[in-house]
Amino acid sequence: MLVLKFGGTSVANAERLKLVSDILKEKFSKEKGLCVVVSAFSGVTDMLIQTTDLAEINDQAYVKRLDDFTSKVADVASKLLDKKALAEIIPDLNENHTVLKNLLSGVALIQEASKKTRDYILSFGERNCAFILNKYLQSIGLPSEYIDARKFIKTDDTFGAARVNFLTTNKEVQNYFKEEGIIYVATGFIGSDITSGRTTTLGRGGSDYSAAIFAAALSSKELEIWTDVSGVLTSDPRKVKKAYTIDEMSYAEAMEMSHFGAKVLYAPTIRPVKEKNIPTRIKNTFSPGDPGTLIHSNPKTTDNAI
Ligand code: ADP
Ligand code: ASP
Ligand code: MG
Repeated sequence: MLVLKFGGTSVANAERLKLVSDILKEKFSKEKGLCVVVSAFSGVTDMLIQTTDLAEINDQAYVKRLDDFTSKVADVASKLLDKKALAEIIPDLNENHTVLKNLLSGVALIQEASKKTRDYILSFGERNCAFILNKYLQSIGLPSEYIDARKFIKTDDTFGAARVNFLTTNKEVQNYFKEEGIIYVATGFIGSDITSGRTTTLGRGGSDYSAAIFAAALSSKELEIWTDVSGVLTSDPRKVKKAYTIDEMSYAEAMEMSHFGAKVLYAPTIRPVKEKNIPTRIKNTFSPGDPGTLIHSNPKTTDNAI
């Protein structure tokens, strides 16, 4: 089993989801089974936060923002899916959007959006993305299954930055996932409170962590984090033009870099893969031939080497 994660920019629109599907098709021809974890379409989590902020002060501009979200989802689905596949999921998408609309009108009515409510609202981003990608993979003949991670990733009730209960989570994943012949398409970022079942989120950028949680539970041979840069670079390439890819690094180094602001990897991601010694590769969706960065226990050189 190989676990892969694709971030927001990699799944930003229909064209990019096709790119992702090409990568998955190629991987599936070589691997027994895949678990692919996806973020929401790029910008969607921020869009849902803004919508909630507006609803919370009963600013009716929230309705337009909500419409931006539902239009984005409808646009991606209609550009990605053929007529038959689209017709099959439209009722689900509509129902899902009705729930979100009702939720937000409740927020506007009482002018209150708790962290608990916000987590539930944010979950619509990842759920719509994974649901649509799954349908597309099925429509091109791949055996895939949609996974709502809330059924598997069990957490405490720290809404907004929930802590994972690994004992229960590992059990839930291992009891359900088959090793072979399937591509699971799972939602990143979200889980559920072990006691109440309410939706939780793992912190901004948390889809990397979701992928590491699945990788550890499934003893994945490798974890691949697919993003918009060719690995972990010496600095943020948006700020430092001469930044270059670091070929390999230890788990400790990766953890240090992410703690000190390398957004490419959400810091909590490292622990589950380090504990299971799962090599983790950061790859570029837009330049899949680049080797990227390999994070593992025995890198050839380290920044600390004399
Ligand atoms: P994704 O949506 O795929 O999770 P993110 O935006 O969270 O992607 O992370 C990728 C971004 O991290 C890059 O586009 C880059 O601007 C930024 N970044 C910051 N520091 C680094 C670094 N040291 N190496 C690589 N990328 C970095
Ligand atoms: N969609 C979530 C966020 O924007 C999680 C992620 O992208 O990893 O924070
Ligand atoms: Mg990220």
